[in-house]
Amino acid sequence: MAKLELQELTAMTVGDLMIESEKVAHVQMNNPLEHALLVLVKSGYSVIPVLDPTYRLKGMISKTAILNEVLGMERFEMEKLSVIKVSETMLTDVPVLKKDDLFLTALKAVVNHAFLCVLDEEGYFEGILTRRAILKQMNRYLHEQIHFNSAIDKTNV
Ligand code: AMP
Repeated sequence: MAKLELQELTAMTVGDLMIESEKVAHVQMNNPLEHALLVLVKSGYSVIPVLDPTYRLKGMISKTAILNEVLGMERFEMEKLSVIKVSETMLTDVPVLKKDDLFLTALKAVVNHAFLCVLDEEGYFEGILTRRAILKQMNRYLHEQIHFNSAIDKTNV
């Protein structure tokens, strides 16, 4: 694989690095919490996107928020899981990215978020960008730089 140059790294877009929507586990707003918890546990993720039937992003739902919702005084009131809807528990104030946002914008965004949803101009869900995808490119770039610089140092001895 060719050495990754700084210009190439910073010219990468969210679209180059994101996971496409078809591969993203999600739930719908009117699903009961029971279904959301099932998807979260089975997928192994702690937070997933919430979409409407037309694939517009509506929020995010987390295992922690679900467990807090059914937490009673002395026990988890699990019977509530089939009554409460995802829309009542989801987080709605979520930051998003666009496919053509550049690497540095994405890097800044993933400092505070393990992943961000990627939307088109009309709010339709296109996929997610994970912190892992950004760190993978940073890791490659920095290791290649260090390797390259130490090779130059050796030839200068
Ligand atoms: P990762 O960097 O792969 O650990 O992913 C960070 C977070 O992004 C996970 O904890 C999930 O909340 C979310 N995530 C990653 N991949 C998926 C996926 N295929 N479907 C839904 N959520 C995902």
